[in-house]
Amino acid sequence: MLCDLLEVTSRRSQGFPAGCFNFGAMTMNPDLSRRDFVGLTGMASLGLGWTLTQQASANSVQEASRTPEDVLKDLLDGNARFASGAVSNPRRTPKDFSALEESQKPEALIITCADARVPPELLFDQGVGDLFVIRIAGNIVDGSGIVVKGSIEYAITELNVPLIMVLGHSNCGAVKAAVNHIDKDDVPPGALNELIGLIKPAVERSKLRPGVLLENAIRENVIIGVERLKRLDAIVSRPATAGPVKIVGATYDLRTGLIQILA
Ligand SMILES: [Zn+2]
Repeated sequence: MLCDLLEVTSRRSQGFPAGCFNFGAMTMNPDLSRRDFVGLTGMASLGLGWTLTQQASANSVQEASRTPEDVLKDLLDGNARFASGAVSNPRRTPKDFSALEESQKPEALIITCADARVPPELLFDQGVGDLFVIRIAGNIVDGSGIVVKGSIEYAITELNVPLIMVLGHSNCGAVKAAVNHIDKDDVPPGALNELIGLIKPAVERSKLRPGVLLENAIRENVIIGVERLKRLDAIVSRPATAGPVKIVGATYDLRTGLIQILA
C-alpha cells in the first residue's frame, strides 16, 4: 500500500469550512496574502492584520502537512457520530457553499456505489467541499473508461487528495446481480450485463470461501477495486511534492451505519 506523508492538525476539528478559515465573523482563504486580506476586509488595524496573517500562515502549514492517516481518522470519527446519531452536520449552509466558489480542496476521494442509501457526506458526517465523490453502481473501479478514470486522476493530480477510499456496502444490488447471474445463461438487458460482468471476478474469488457468498463478494469487489487503483498511473507516478496517496477499501453496513476498513 502506498502510504506515508507529513504531519498535521485537522482544520475540520476546528469546525472551519474547507478552503477557508474563520476568524470571528470573518472568513478568509488560506492562500490570501496579508495585503489581499486587509484589502478585502477593509481592516484598519495593522496589529490585528498581522495576527490574522500569522494565523493564516500557520493554518496553511497545517493544511499542507495533512496526512492520509489524519484524514482517515477524521472520516471514521465522523462515521462514529453518524452511526450513534450524534451528527454535527458541518458546513452545509449557503455561506459554506459560497466560500468555496473559487476553488475546492477535498480531503479524500470516495469511490462508492450509486445506491441511494449510501451518501458519503452523510455517512462520514462531512460538509460541502470535504469529499470528492465518484458514484458508480457496484463501486466498480475498472472498465469505466476515460470518464471515471479521468475523474480519479483529476482528484489525485489536481486536487492532491491524500486519501482514496473504495467503499462498498451491504446488500449491494449490483453485486447481488453478479451473484445471481454468475452461473446462469440468461443475461441482463443492455449495458447491465457488461456492468455485472465486471463484478463477476469478485464473485468467482469468493465462491469457495466460508460464509455468505454475497457478503464475501461485496468485500472482494472492494479489494479488487483497491488493487486496480494501485496500478493506476496517476497514483504510481504522482509527483513527490504532492506526497504519496493512501488507498483503503471499506464497506458500509446499512443495518448498523458503521464503516469497516478492509484493506
Ligand atoms: Zn450497491
